[in-house]
Amino acid sequence: MTRKLEGKIALITGGTTGIGLASAQEFAAQGAKVFITGRRQAELDAAVAAIGDNAIGIRSDVSKLDDLDRVYADIAAKAGHLDIVFANAGSGDMQPLGSITEEHFDRIFSINVKGLLFTVQKALPLMKDGGSVILTSSTTSIQGTENFSVYSASKAAVRNFARSWLLDLKARRIRVNALSPGPVRTPGLGGLVPAEHQDGLFAHLATLVPMGRLGEPGEIAKAAAFLASDDSSFVNGIELFVDGGAAQI
Ligand code: NAD
Repeated sequence: MTRKLEGKIALITGGTTGIGLASAQEFAAQGAKVFITGRRQAELDAAVAAIGDNAIGIRSDVSKLDDLDRVYADIAAKAGHLDIVFANAGSGDMQPLGSITEEHFDRIFSINVKGLLFTVQKALPLMKDGGSVILTSSTTSIQGTENFSVYSASKAAVRNFARSWLLDLKARRIRVNALSPGPVRTPGLGGLVPAEHQDGLFAHLATLVPMGRLGEPGEIAKAAAFLASDDSSFVNGIELFVDGGAAQI
């Protein structure tokens, strides 16, 4: 059977856990060489070992532009170009309106919006014409969620980037799509509450999904591989919801 991403070079930011790690495993299984980033060397090394020979880890923080320059210098030296950029690193925590601090806003927007923007912009000189950019947004891009407005607004910004950037990149035939997971069982989702409340959070979120369960990282990874591959060659600017129907009702 031919593999969807045979010979492709991909970058996945935030590839050490959760959706990013599962996607790196899927991309590698589909034949890609995958660069992953994360902020901690130990987690990065463990992820590279879990993905296998086709993975290379580069320690970096997406919110730091110097780190991004280092990432692309490293990719240029080791691979020479990129076919796929999956700007996936992101995080959030909960604060109700009334308690939102400048620090909360700056931290979330600097990772989810600024970091994602410069991840893609700085990738452009290395990207092949006809390549694929995938941006991790969220069902929160179109939904209201109590105590989660700053994160949700950051993901709405990401969703618009896909619409606008496909126009900026049309001459190069680079496709840009947003991928919006519903609740997915990852360390990031569990980390929204103290460890003793994690099972309760997961059980509550499952009741909000018509399919009655959380998503698994591998299910998001398969959708990412579709957007990364030529199977989606006429798919551009969409928001692909992988949410068990949660935001569709
Ligand atoms: P996760 O916390 O398990 O993984 C996030 C990854 O991003 C990790 O590898 C982490 O190290 C990395 N990361 C965070 N900040 C970074 C930074 N400044 N620089 C570099 N790497 C950084 O979470 P996840 O649930 O797999 O989240 C992946 C993406 O999916 C995020 O953008 C998140 O907002 C989005 N998302 C998740 C869910 C969900 O339910 N899990 C739902 C919708 C959207």
